[in-house]
Order: sequence, then C-alpha cells, then structure tokens
Amino acid sequence: MLASVTAVRTVLLPFLLLTLFAFFGGCKQTVESQTAAWKSNVKKVESLQAKYPGFKPALQARIDEATPIHEAAGSLDGDAAIDKLKSANSTLMKGFVGELDKVEAVSKKLREARVEVTAKASDASIREGAKVAAADAEKALSRAEEVLKKGAKNPNDADAVLKKVLGDLETAQRAIDKVSGVQSDKDDKAKADKDDKAKADKDAKEAVADWKCQYCGNMNKHDHTECGGCGAGKSGKKPDAAAKK
Ligand SMILES: [Zn+2]
Repeated sequence: MLASVTAVRTVLLPFLLLTLFAFFGGCKQTVESQTAAWKSNVKKVESLQAKYPGFKPALQARIDEATPIHEAAGSLDGDAAIDKLKSANSTLMKGFVGELDKVEAVSKKLREARVEVTAKASDASIREGAKVAAADAEKALSRAEEVLKKGAKNPNDADAVLKKVLGDLETAQRAIDKVSGVQSDKDDKAKADKDDKAKADKDAKEAVADWKCQYCGNMNKHDHTECGGCGAGKSGKKPDAAAKK
C-alpha cells in the first residue's frame, strides 16, 4: 500500500509539473507550435497525395483553401496570429483529410483482428461467428481499398467517401470485437473452472494425506486431529504441557 502510494507520487509529480509547464510555458510558444504544426500538416497532406493519388484534386483544394489563411497570419500579432494559424491548420486537416490520415491504421487494426479472431476461436459456434465476422471484415477492407483507390474529385465528395469507408471498417471491427469478447469470456470461464478443479483436487488430496507434526516431526494419519508423538493439533496448535513433558 505504502509502496504504491510512493510509486504514484514519483510518477505523478513530474507529470504534474510537466503539465503545469506545458500550460504556462505553452502559451508563449503557441505561434511557434502552430507554425510547426502547419509545416507538419502540409507534409502530411503531400504524403497523402502521393499515397492516394485519386484524392489529389480534393487534397489540393484543401491546400488552396488553407494556404491564404496561413499567409494572412503573417501580418498579424499575438492572439490574432495564433487564432489565424489555428484556423489554417484546422481548415487544412478537417473532415476527410484527417480521416484519410487515419484510415491506414484503422485498416491495419481490422486486418490483425480478423486473423486473430479466427485463430483463437475455441469451439464450433464461436468459429462460425468468427468466420462470418472475418469474411465481413475482408469485404469491408477490399471495398475500402477499392474506394480509396478511386478517390474523389472535391472535398465534399471526399468527406462522404471517407465517412462511408470508416463507418464500414468500424462496423466490421465492432462485429469482430463482439466475437472476440465472447471468446475471451469463454477463456476466462475455462480458466476459472480449471482453477476451481485444481483447488478441489488439492483439497481432496490433502484430506486423505498423512500429516507431519510441525513440532516433533511425527507422521500422523489424515483422520487424527492430534499428533500421536506430542499431542499437538493438526492445525498447528501447540502441544499442551502435559503431553509435552
Ligand atoms: Zn508432534
């Protein structure tokens, strides 16, 4: 208990100080941090254009929309400049751009879950559910790939496409998670049953095992409650003075 309180303190205190520092120190740096964010976002959009050529026009439209906002920040000071930069960043990354940026990770997770749920299924009914969920995931993944390859001409179409793709992938992921949940409930139950059985076996064995007296070392039959050598109790009660001599 004391150890865990100390551990919490040693972990939390630096964290708290860092948070405070980030909060108070961060205010002054926001123009810089927003500028850095802008640079990294532009890079991100450029790499998305390379990865998803079908979305190139829609991504370009976003750059064209956000760049003047970014440039306008250059003639502003303080909070006004910060706000302008924030607005440039959110204009660039909103909707389909941010979603396009995360769709790869979502797909990867689903692909892994798909393999795992099939491998782990332990009985016929779960195997059947896993098979269906994995097949649906496969379909959602190849649909997504196809649609992402096709791309979209403008930001509005791209928003609709990404919303559909992510919705599809998330539905497939939820179906797999549901099957995995059933499986892990079963695993937990099987483990608990096994533990219960092991304990019952151990208790049963102990019930008929000879026991060794902890005071004199005499071996006693399981149904003797007192040591034949010194009179001590089976449960470890000390031998009384008379029996001890
Ligand atoms: Zn004894």
